[in-house]
Amino acid sequence: MQKLPRHRPSRKYPNAKRIILECDLDTCPACGSVLTPRQPWHMRKTFQSLNGPVFVAGKSKECTNRSCRNYSKHYYASRVWLLSLPNSTYGLDVLAFIGWQHEHEHRQLVEIQRELNQRGVAINERNVGKLYRQFLALLSASSQEAQENLAATAAQYGGLIWALDALQPEDHGTLLYVLYEVLSGRPIAAMQREHVTEQELVEWLQSYTELPFPVLATLSDGEVTLIAALKASWPEAPHQRCQAHFLNNLAEAVLDYDDQLRKSMRQDLGGLPAVPERVSDDPVPPF
Ligand SMILES: [Zn+2]
Repeated sequence: MQKLPRHRPSRKYPNAKRIILECDLDTCPACGSVLTPRQPWHMRKTFQSLNGPVFVAGKSKECTNRSCRNYSKHYYASRVWLLSLPNSTYGLDVLAFIGWQHEHEHRQLVEIQRELNQRGVAINERNVGKLYRQFLALLSASSQEAQENLAATAAQYGGLIWALDALQPEDHGTLLYVLYEVLSGRPIAAMQREHVTEQELVEWLQSYTELPFPVLATLSDGEVTLIAALKASWPEAPHQRCQAHFLNNLAEAVLDYDDQLRKSMRQDLGGLPAVPERVSDDPVPPF
């Protein structure tokens, strides 16, 4: 029997919030030349966040210094993967919400599903469970595959760039700290806490400082604890600041929901469509 190709969901989100992210780097970490922006998006997709649908696209830059080892290599807007993990149609804020509600509030997956539906996130119980497992995998980190990706990236670019960001998906003070590697553009590990000190972050990062790869730079927003932890962990690597707190901005609109809206949404969300198993991120063909 012929196997039918898996197809993307037919949901359309004409009013999705649009986020276009640039590559965080201004200069080539290998040679120091100013990077040249590339026009095409290197990825784009639409996903569901706690605040409604989001369309995100990432742009890249390249080194145009012919004598650089990274000549013509692309540097990507890796933070797109912080908004929503690769191959996912849900925001990382949704995963963090599920994780917190299940682990700390001890709510059943079906209760969490109802709450998400009330917030306008179309999801069934089976997929709540799947996202929960994805979240646990992110928290436990350090898979063999991740290690191999880091080794390949270090070989390709001559080293790694570590970045740290903090996502506050809810207004109860819980933060999701995400460590990601900029050049490969992949989240590597996450930690969900109400509050962490610099020392706790340093301890969490220690196993990554022991990896046998050169570190070209570290990256974070201007948050003092994050910068201090990165500088303490990789004292030899220059630190760069990236645009501030774009993740937290995603969570703000949640506070705008009022009871009236919740009630009307509850009535509107009677029959939800099943959520597809897995979709590919939409690759953008080269122009
Ligand atoms: Zn260069």
